[in-house]
Amino acid sequence: MRKTREKAGEGGKGKGPRLPPSPTDLAGIEAALEEARRAASIGEVPVGAAVLRDGTMVVCAHNETVGRRDPTAHAELLAVQRALSLLQTDRLGDCTLYVTLEPCAQCAGAIVLAKVGRVVFGAYDPKAGMVGSLGDVLRHPGLNHRVEVIGGVEEEECGALLRAFFGERR
Ligand SMILES: [Zn+2]
Repeated sequence: MRKTREKAGEGGKGKGPRLPPSPTDLAGIEAALEEARRAASIGEVPVGAAVLRDGTMVVCAHNETVGRRDPTAHAELLAVQRALSLLQTDRLGDCTLYVTLEPCAQCAGAIVLAKVGRVVFGAYDPKAGMVGSLGDVLRHPGLNHRVEVIGGVEEEECGALLRAFFGERR
């Protein structure tokens, strides 16, 4: 681990993580990015998610809003649901959820209900993000369960996928 707080060679937008992400967190967000690219390749909005436990992949998912005609089928919601099912549990306190885009109100709510231990996300979403942008559901002082959050990991690449996708469609 580097001990300085400087991020070598990264431009950043000032909202990125203050410390360089750990190798595990980088691997997690890379897995989510891979899912986002898969989504784009089949015409889905390129948002991807992965759930890791002790550094080991549990499940990954991407947005399925187009294919399912379901505006709630967000990558991180699907990942949380599948992780609960696979691990046969009702809480994910020992898991980290990686997602390429800041979660919306729905997904932030699901993260709280499933008691996810940590959330690491890529791009901020100024239009719908509820983990720092429009509001902050995960760190609301009134909630019993509070989630450790790291935002802005691989922010540029996560955002570029979305911009490319919507740019091509306009
Ligand atoms: Zn969502």
